[in-house]
Amino acid sequence: MALIVQKYGGTSVGSTERIKNVARRVAHFAKQGHRLVVVVSAMSGETNRLLALAKELSASPNPRELDVVAATGEQVTIGLLAIALEAIGLRARSYTGGQVRVLTDDAYTKARILEIDQAAMRRDLDAGTVVVVAGFQGVDAAGNITTLGRGGSDTSAVALAAALAADECQIYTDVDGVYTTDPRIVPEARRLDRVTFEEMLEMASLGSKVLQIRSVEFAGKYKVKLRVLSSFEEPEASGPGTLITYEEDEDMEQAIISGIAFQRDEAKITLMGVEDRPGIAAAILGTVAAANIDVDMIVQNIGASGMTDFSFTVNRNEYAKALEALKAANGKAFVARDIVGDNRIAKVSVVGIGMKSHVGIASRMFRALADENINIQMISTSEIKISVVIDEKYLELAVRVLHRAFELEKAAGEVA
Ligand code: ADP
Ligand code: ASP
Ligand code: MG
Repeated sequence: MALIVQKYGGTSVGSTERIKNVARRVAHFAKQGHRLVVVVSAMSGETNRLLALAKELSASPNPRELDVVAATGEQVTIGLLAIALEAIGLRARSYTGGQVRVLTDDAYTKARILEIDQAAMRRDLDAGTVVVVAGFQGVDAAGNITTLGRGGSDTSAVALAAALAADECQIYTDVDGVYTTDPRIVPEARRLDRVTFEEMLEMASLGSKVLQIRSVEFAGKYKVKLRVLSSFEEPEASGPGTLITYEEDEDMEQAIISGIAFQRDEAKITLMGVEDRPGIAAAILGTVAAANIDVDMIVQNIGASGMTDFSFTVNRNEYAKALEALKAANGKAFVARDIVGDNRIAKVSVVGIGMKSHVGIASRMFRALADENINIQMISTSEIKISVVIDEKYLELAVRVLHRAFELEKAAGEVA
């Protein structure tokens, strides 16, 4: 008998029929004697709909109120799932984030979980009740509703699993595991039986939206046993999904490259003709940080005559804000001859722990892109990933070409 946290994403609870399916799956596990905490997302499309309503009323809605609106999506699905569970004879009880007391900081729209009160959940679990918790939401110390950022129900689930010391955290979604790349883009993409925590962290942070990055960070920190599975299979005949592993398994046939991640919503900003002197990067990036904008890749070219061009990428949503802040600071915090940008770029990354011990990955990647005439605008690397920025219009082609170049459609043992 185990304590299992299961999370069902938007598509998995997208209709009452789907919610009935989830209830049947939960019942299947409950009948085996497991104790269950079930975290649900809003019905698919609902969070987008809610945020769009707010945007109809204001170009920049107050983030506190935005969270009040966005959090309602999950309140609907917890109630519906609890009703569906009771309708098939299980005892169930729904909780909003505030009712559990998922305590977060007050960074509305991207709050971080600080603490989770287990008392009420424990009482229910001990009484044989299925606990249904709203994902994506919490409450700050003053009692305000907060949300955890898009895709945040994954993080809710992993955080609950960590707090309750659950035996496993199962993320049920519309694909049957983590693939070598998004199967919607590359139909030959292959499900991975296992992926290391380090690789999953890179893939999530580089754009694979199958798991929210914070959920992976949480799982790593608290060593939560994390598995990604499909909610669309019959519970009795479910596949094994993908297990996130925390140590490299010696016996495992390890592919050099595990996956390809990509991110569409990127933008690039270049400050041309800035002085090449100590402190210039701090002055430029300090301006961006002061506007509360995250910077991703950074490239500085050594220019002639003491001048340099300084480029970096930001999320496309923050592009206009970043440009505005930099233009306002030009001539004060730093001096740039010109500030230009491009918000039609994308980032493609190859990820693999095998890169640590193999050379030639970068050249293979760049050759494959060159053969398709895809120009590389920026490059960044870490021990286990190589990322490039390219024109957005070549994104899907680049992903397919790289998937083929690294023979990711074949299992590790098959690769020549
Ligand atoms: P949920 O609503 O269940 O949270 P998401 O839409 O957030 O589901 O995440 C699942 C989707 O992630 C899949 O439908 C798939 O298109 C996409 N995805 C992107 N990269 C990958 C990958 N490497 N493996 C599996 N799915 C991926
Ligand atoms: N409903 C939220 C979203 O769409 C959280 C989630 O689904 O994980 O981002
Ligand atoms: Mg998701």
